[in-house]
Amino acid sequence: MHVFLHEQSFVGCAGAVVDANMRVEIASQACLLLLGPRVCFAELRSILVYPEPFIVPQREEEHGVVTEYEQEVSGEAWDTSSVILAWSDVASADERCSPVVHEFAHHLDHADGVLRNRPQVRASFEALAATIERGDQTPLDPDALQNETEFIAYASEAFFEAPQRLASFDSPLYEELAHYYGVDPTAW
Ligand SMILES: [Zn+2]
Repeated sequence: MHVFLHEQSFVGCAGAVVDANMRVEIASQACLLLLGPRVCFAELRSILVYPEPFIVPQREEEHGVVTEYEQEVSGEAWDTSSVILAWSDVASADERCSPVVHEFAHHLDHADGVLRNRPQVRASFEALAATIERGDQTPLDPDALQNETEFIAYASEAFFEAPQRLASFDSPLYEELAHYYGVDPTAW
């Protein structure tokens, strides 16, 4: 955390003032992802902190039809040099969710793309879709089914925040994440 706080610049956006407590809160969650020997935020330079979730214009094209709409997002890793967070979400997160882990998992996915290329991630994505279709409970947020990028971010949240539940729900996925992050949070 000392190195992280020294290396990263925290930028308050849209009027947010990032104080020392906020920096430590963000660092303490982000650095969970760094506990293993291999993962690092090599390209990360800055953390942009907004007071509230913010609006991002979205554009989708399907069968030649373009749809433009605005989507509220709590944080989004737009490029590999910065991570964006909404402080209101970070502050109100409970023990089952972590917007910080979520966004830093997005950052790693953009930066190294290791997990998205693992066959187990695709298999677990499809298994989750089937589970949710049956109406069964899962430790993963249904938003994880938006795409594989979201799946990896929500799975990483569950891995660190609800490891026992994830391990019993989908043990091959848990093992995949334990290998990638180099830690076993069920032992904590
Ligand atoms: Zn996301």
